[in-house]
Amino acid sequence: MKRTALLTFCFLTLALTDRAAENLGILGAHPRWSVLQHYQETITREEFAHLIYDVYCTHGFAPDLIELNADTARILTNRESQKFFALRFAKDDASRPVPRLWHPAKSLPPTKAGKPLSGLRIALDPGHLGGRWAKMEERWFQVGSTQPVQEGDLTLKVSRLLAPRLRELGAKVFFVRNSNEPVTVKRPDDFRELARKILIKNGVPQPRADVLDENDPEKEQTIRWQSEILFYRYSEIRRRAALVNFKLHPDLVLCLHFNAEGWGDPNNPTLTDINHLHLLVNGSYLQKELEFDDERFEMIRRLLSRAYDEELPLADTIATCMARETQLPPYEYPTTNSTTKVGTSGYVYARNLLATRLYRCPVVYCEPYVMNSKDAFARIEAGDYEGTRNVNGSERKSIFREYADSVADGLVEYYSKARGL
Ligand SMILES: [Zn+2]
Repeated sequence: MKRTALLTFCFLTLALTDRAAENLGILGAHPRWSVLQHYQETITREEFAHLIYDVYCTHGFAPDLIELNADTARILTNRESQKFFALRFAKDDASRPVPRLWHPAKSLPPTKAGKPLSGLRIALDPGHLGGRWAKMEERWFQVGSTQPVQEGDLTLKVSRLLAPRLRELGAKVFFVRNSNEPVTVKRPDDFRELARKILIKNGVPQPRADVLDENDPEKEQTIRWQSEILFYRYSEIRRRAALVNFKLHPDLVLCLHFNAEGWGDPNNPTLTDINHLHLLVNGSYLQKELEFDDERFEMIRRLLSRAYDEELPLADTIATCMARETQLPPYEYPTTNSTTKVGTSGYVYARNLLATRLYRCPVVYCEPYVMNSKDAFARIEAGDYEGTRNVNGSERKSIFREYADSVADGLVEYYSKARGL
């Protein structure tokens, strides 16, 4: 589940003596524009324009950010110093190879039937933390005296069922998180000063230290709430990205989540009849996100790596398998303000999430099941089991196995076809 936090965007400028002030997002890293030199003449103008207009910048952008000319694209690197990066287009498709550390399905070595995932490195990223952090993450609710529902625990359970299945199919599988403790070594208290600065920049001149109670309507304007989100979202996901990019080097990351509809009071949550499925890939950047130098750089690097060419058909195939096995209808976002529907399955959206942007390889982000739907809740409470059981009047697999099996089936279908098995 994703919630858009108030005050997500703040302008933090980093003034350094040897360069003009940079406009970075929260905990953003200094963009290394020179890396893009490796991508000179690796993409045609036509393909670059398609990815910009149909995938990454579907909500438009300020005219000085990206200028498409006949043979080059001029990309703004720093507005204050009026610096730009010039990307030279390839003349045709048969140009230089695209530099990247991950392997597209087509470039994997030959394999045999029964091992369609052999040679493939997959990192499983169970969303959130769970355990004692679930309440802080606002990924916790409890119906009466039943077992509390904690998204971070559910996603880890699915990952632990999925990993052995993928290994049997030949993949090398890594966990980005394999406990309900954070990957980051930071804790909320480490971010109190930054939280205070962010609040002041966002028009809260004298932010309160603490939240009054769970239902405090102004809790998002407190130093506590801000420092907690800096810990469990921004710091945590950036640490996971460092692990993925510098240590695991996977060919694919699967981000596993459960979705939810607003449940109101977590101690007296609303259960709903609504249940749905969707998957996300990176794209659909907001104009204000593209203004950040680090986000614009990460977007361009991702575009040039052609992660989209791999993750879109993969997400479509996994979505089709998940839809068939879960029988869930596609989620429709209430507005098109932050997402763009892509692909052919009807279940896949492009969206600029921290994880889908920062992991430098194809990323498929799964959002099946509304945890507080009556159906999913009953199945979560039923726990994990082998075979089928009667839950809510019909014979069903455990929700955790159905999730893991349908993702695995999607991977088998995609890689078998791409590798000509
Ligand atoms: Zn989630």
